[in-house]
Amino acid sequence: MWKIEDADELYGIELWGNGYFSINRLGHLTVRPLRSHQEVDLCEVMAHIKKRKIRTPVLLRFPQILEDRVAYINTCFSNSISEFQYDGRYHLAFPFKVNQRREVIETILRAGRKYNVGLEVGSKAEMLAALTLSQNREQLLICNGFKDEEYLRMAFYAAAVGKNVVIVIDEVSEAHRIVKLNEEMGFCPTLGLRIKLYMRGSGKWADTGGEYAKFGLSAPEILACINTLKTHNLLSKLKFLHFHIGSQITEIKRIQEAVREAARMYAKLIKIGVSIQFFDVGGGLGVDYDGSRTSSEASMNYTEQEYANNVVYTLKDICDLEDVPYPTIISESGRAVTAYHALLITDVLGSVPGELSPTDFPLNGEEPHVISELRDCLQDINVKNYVEYYHDALQQKDEMITLFRLGQITLEDRAKGEVLFREICRKVLRFAKANEDTSEEFEVLFKLLSQKYITNFSIFQSTPDVWGIRQLFPIVPIQNLNKVPERHCTIADVTCDSHGVINKFIDLKDIKEVLELHKIEDDGAYYIAVLLIGAYQETIGDIHNLFGTTNEVVIIVDDKGEWHITKTIRGDTLADVLSMMRYPQGEIADSLASCISGAVQSGLLREDMAEKMRTDLMQMLESYTYLSPKEE
Ligand code: PLP
Repeated sequence: MWKIEDADELYGIELWGNGYFSINRLGHLTVRPLRSHQEVDLCEVMAHIKKRKIRTPVLLRFPQILEDRVAYINTCFSNSISEFQYDGRYHLAFPFKVNQRREVIETILRAGRKYNVGLEVGSKAEMLAALTLSQNREQLLICNGFKDEEYLRMAFYAAAVGKNVVIVIDEVSEAHRIVKLNEEMGFCPTLGLRIKLYMRGSGKWADTGGEYAKFGLSAPEILACINTLKTHNLLSKLKFLHFHIGSQITEIKRIQEAVREAARMYAKLIKIGVSIQFFDVGGGLGVDYDGSRTSSEASMNYTEQEYANNVVYTLKDICDLEDVPYPTIISESGRAVTAYHALLITDVLGSVPGELSPTDFPLNGEEPHVISELRDCLQDINVKNYVEYYHDALQQKDEMITLFRLGQITLEDRAKGEVLFREICRKVLRFAKANEDTSEEFEVLFKLLSQKYITNFSIFQSTPDVWGIRQLFPIVPIQNLNKVPERHCTIADVTCDSHGVINKFIDLKDIKEVLELHKIEDDGAYYIAVLLIGAYQETIGDIHNLFGTTNEVVIIVDDKGEWHITKTIRGDTLADVLSMMRYPQGEIADSLASCISGAVQSGLLREDMAEKMRTDLMQMLESYTYLSPKEE
């Protein structure tokens, strides 16, 4: 008998869920925003959302998870600071680019006020957005990225209005531009250096670090910047040292080695008279997407506490050896703060191939020999002979295709043959399972027999990293978790792009090529959730095929365990995405109207039909870019 525990094991929920996700006794996926027993039943949420006519795909945002992440990462660092008696402080600076949505950043700043959580920005637009947010004088505003005069001027203005600005010099010429602005304005914000480390990260983002990295100053460039600042009496402003060896670092030893190298750099700078006070380890704290706790690309072989321990201990060790003061530690952890808080729910619209069985294609006894051979094979195959019979069936299938190519069998015969072959494969899989036979030749049958579940979302909009860098995210049905998922599926999105498929799924030991899902019934929606998508996906997502942003719902849970929707944000309409491509709504309306009038005048269209078309098309312009659910 299939149990909820089986579903938990199959989808790995407890392993990657980090306490935020679970299954309730109804077999529904739940979210526990506070990692406590207060949980949100996602099926209940979807029923409610449907009543409010909010269509799928819908992004669910849980701000309490963000708050919990901010608190947790700070707690890990404060544990390490007391354990290793590090006589210094730690602050998180949230990197804007990981999720620029206003409600996300505001929640992080609000939750982080008591820990003095700051912000890191990497462009002029991010800088201006940050200027509109409320930060106290302790909360840092770190300016990274390549900077022209305008960007630097914004940073100076931000400092002038009381923001705690740090300009991190990413390139030698920036130092000269800073000197000029200092002369013009008569003051200069705190300055920092982004250093290039020899040590690289690990995993998909390893190239961010190392000698060939895009960013970071080499040793001669560091000295050149110091000389420029010294010549213009600005050396006292240089207080900040920063490095970043890549996102999602999968191995703890890379972090340790990077901190060791950067800490030496810090000590040497102190010794040549640069009074660095902040040591910024950048991002890189990973998320265990597959729950395996290994150094695989979708995982990390350490915990958040271990990360904090390694940073604090290694830095302290070098400071002691070099006899230099302990700097304030900064981390720019983005992924680890935001990944868990957002998930996408959408519905399966249909499957390819559909549910066909041999009874849909009855045999009449007049089929060619090769088809009757397949029929006999299906009748006689059993747990003892399945290997031999499967090999025979493979041969017959090849022969059938050859005969079809030669024009010797009909389309109907080929259809009967294909359905029979699929049924034989189904039986083979069942017998192989009963015999605990894990031969590779049968493993591939899962893929062969898999169905594509056509799912109402765009990979390019909602999970662009699946397409761009083959990232894995957990995917789980939100209902029926108390029933056996008897279908093996890949997921096809609704874009007209053959790359809009998901055919790699998380697995504890390996990567799966098919995902176990339930049979979709004609009545009622079948929802799946794509989880842990709160980092980078929303900001990198694009409007490929003009599928726009999705509907969004913000949910919190109260002390009594009741959940509430605190905010709903409608996704893009057809008019919205068209206007982004410079088809203003007014112009579309005018040209549609003149098209219809032209058709009436030339007698192609009746006036009553024309009127209905005008009204319908205007309404359609205001509609959602995704498909209608199947029950509508
Ligand atoms: N800081 C800098 C300079 C970055 O480039 C990045 C992202 O790559 C981050 C912080 C955030 O990294 P993560 O999301 O891995 O914490």
